[in-house]
Amino acid sequence: MSIAENLLTIKKDIPEEVILVAVSKTKPVADILEAYNAGHRDFGENKIQEMVSKSEELPQDIRWHMIGHVQTNKVKYMAPFVHLVHGCDRVKVLKEVNKQAAKCDRIIDCLIQVHIAEEDTKFGFDESELSDLIDQRTWEDFPNVRLRGMMGMATFTEDHDQIRREFKSLRAHFDRFAERSGLKNWNILSMGMSGDYRLAIEEGSTMVRIGSSIFGTRNP
Ligand SMILES: *Cc1c(COP(=O)(O)O)cnc(C)c1O
Repeated sequence: MSIAENLLTIKKDIPEEVILVAVSKTKPVADILEAYNAGHRDFGENKIQEMVSKSEELPQDIRWHMIGHVQTNKVKYMAPFVHLVHGCDRVKVLKEVNKQAAKCDRIIDCLIQVHIAEEDTKFGFDESELSDLIDQRTWEDFPNVRLRGMMGMATFTEDHDQIRREFKSLRAHFDRFAERSGLKNWNILSMGMSGDYRLAIEEGSTMVRIGSSIFGTRNP
C-alpha cells in the first residue's frame, strides 16, 4: 500500500477529533511530500536537526512536532517554527524552550512527558516530579511556554493489559493535573503509536503518533 492509502486507512480507523501526527523520522522528504499531497499537515520527528533540515526543504504550512528527547543546546534551532514540543521531560527543557521562544517573540506549545512505562528506558517526569511542578506552579516562571497537556509512551510489550494500565495512569495524571493546576488550554493527551493506538484512544488519547503503519518499517 502507498503512504497515501495507509494514511487514509488510519484516519478511517480513528475518531475525527483525535489528531494524527505522522511520524516521519528517518524517512526521506519525498515520503513526507507524498503524505502532504494527500492533505496531511502534522508531522513528527525525534531529532531536532533532522526536523530543521527537512523543514527547510518542505512546504511552510507543515506543523512540526518534536516527539523525541530534547537536547537543550539544540532548542534554539527549532524555536522559530516548531508547532508542539511533546518531549518536555524535565524542567530544564521547559526553561530553555521558554528562553528561545522569547527570543523569537513566540509562545510555544509544550506537553509534559510523563514516565508511565514499567521499563526504565523511557524519559519523563515521575509522580513526585509532577507533584513538585504543580506545587511550585513552575510554568508561571515560563511565560513563553504554553502547557497544553501530556505525552507518554507505554512499555514495548505484547501484554495489552499492561499497556492499558499504563495509558490509564497517564490519563489519570492528565486529569489530575488539569484539576490541580487550573491551566487553560490543557487539552492534549499525546499517547498511542502504531502498535497500540487503538488501546490509547480507548483510554482517552486525543493525539496519536504513528510512524511505521504509515511510512513502513524503519531501518535502525
Ligand atoms: C518513533 C516514535 C513513534 C512512532 O512509532 P511507530 O511504532 O513507528 O508508530 C511515536 N512516538 C515516539 C516518541 C517515537 O519516537
